[in-house]
Amino acid sequence: IITSYNQTEDNINVVVRVRPLNNREKKSGDTSVIQFPGNGQVLVDGIPGGPSGGQKPKLFSYNVVFEPAATQEDVLQFSGMKRLIEMALEGFRCTCFCYGQTGSGKTHTLTGPPGLFGVRPAPFSDKHGLVFRSFLYLFQLIQQKTDVHFVLKASYLEIYNEKVIDLLNPGSARKPLAVRWSKKARGFFVENLFTVDCEELDDLIAVLEEGLRNRAIGKHNMNDFSSRSHTILTVYITSEEPAEGGVFLSRSGKINFVDLAGSEMTKKTQSEGKTLEEANNINKSLMVLGYCISSLSDSKRRNSHIPYRDSKLTKLLADSLAGNGVTLMIACISPARSNISETLNTLRYAARAKKI
Ligand code: ADP
Ligand code: MG
Repeated sequence: IITSYNQTEDNINVVVRVRPLNNREKKSGDTSVIQFPGNGQVLVDGIPGGPSGGQKPKLFSYNVVFEPAATQEDVLQFSGMKRLIEMALEGFRCTCFCYGQTGSGKTHTLTGPPGLFGVRPAPFSDKHGLVFRSFLYLFQLIQQKTDVHFVLKASYLEIYNEKVIDLLNPGSARKPLAVRWSKKARGFFVENLFTVDCEELDDLIAVLEEGLRNRAIGKHNMNDFSSRSHTILTVYITSEEPAEGGVFLSRSGKINFVDLAGSEMTKKTQSEGKTLEEANNINKSLMVLGYCISSLSDSKRRNSHIPYRDSKLTKLLADSLAGNGVTLMIACISPARSNISETLNTLRYAARAKKI
């Protein structure tokens, strides 16, 4: 079995993807501590204990679990992502985010391995990630709905140390953009963020490529920059559908694809002094996000105060997390024994996001 599920129609769904052991881990004799009992469950065995020996295995439940052999297409087909795309076309605000320690497969899942992009016409391979596949599915659906007029736009930003940088406008790295509250739209927005009209599939792909390119340059003196920042690629979908009486029904939905900073950042950087502020900011936004999501998925807390304002990340995701938005969390983990403590942290975070 590659996937096992428990799929729901809920506002928040949580899936786990376990990457394969890599060559380095295999060479060093590292082994997998993850087992798959089925039915959306993950079992972690081999947790070190005190002097008396190891701890009991821990069992976690989610909507869907992707075993290491799962393909990029499996993730599109079985994660619930297709439902998010369908709902965004219907005018809902949707978010898909990947959470996990650096090296766990977040970028692989969303984008795919490096080097896939920059070629025209864009070739399609089995390596392409969820964003690319979602774009294809989105256009497939749009082409089927011949009676509806759709307008698509896209933006791509990075949040680094609580500063918002426009990945489609590299100049903004020197002058970060402001996040403001719009009274009229009753939501947060990024002032002066580029939003690009995307008439064709290739236009959306160009946004993805341009953002990835700008993310990669200018950061050479900080080798694991990508593990310290969050990126949000947003597709805005507005539509007009002819209705009875010669009027038009207009809708506006969107999809956020979020590649989060590495969840391990706090501990690793605590001793480094200079990056403490950075680590605190990362830790804070991931904590606030986790808190907001677990509150929202709990029907008793859903209508209580949700602290979106406590981080830029949650401000920008607020409209899709709240209300009738739909969220898909993909928790990425390594199967390796050497990563067991971060893996347990990720599994706990994901389990808190939604109790199953
Ligand atoms: P993260 O973005 O979480 O730091 P990456 O996506 O960069 O992690 O993944 C780390 C490495 O593992 C990359 O070389 C990536 O290609 C590889 N990898 C991750 N997930 C998978 C997978 N499901 N199958 C094959 N390789 C993977
Ligand atoms: Mg990454």
